[in-house]
Amino acid sequence: MAKTAKCAHPACECQVESGGRFGKYCSDHCRQAGEAIVLRCECQHPACR
Ligand SMILES: [Zn+2]
Ligand SMILES: [Zn+2]
Repeated sequence: MAKTAKCAHPACECQVESGGRFGKYCSDHCRQAGEAIVLRCECQHPACR
């Protein structure tokens, strides 16, 4: 059973499986945005649209 946590990007609502390919982020977009404060996440996942 995979453990999930919210994406580490503050504006992102996605759930990320631990050990995923982007680490604690849901996508390469969030990984590059890092912990920058932005109004909304643009990772294109359904949770963020
Ligand atoms: Zn997102
Ligand atoms: Zn994310």
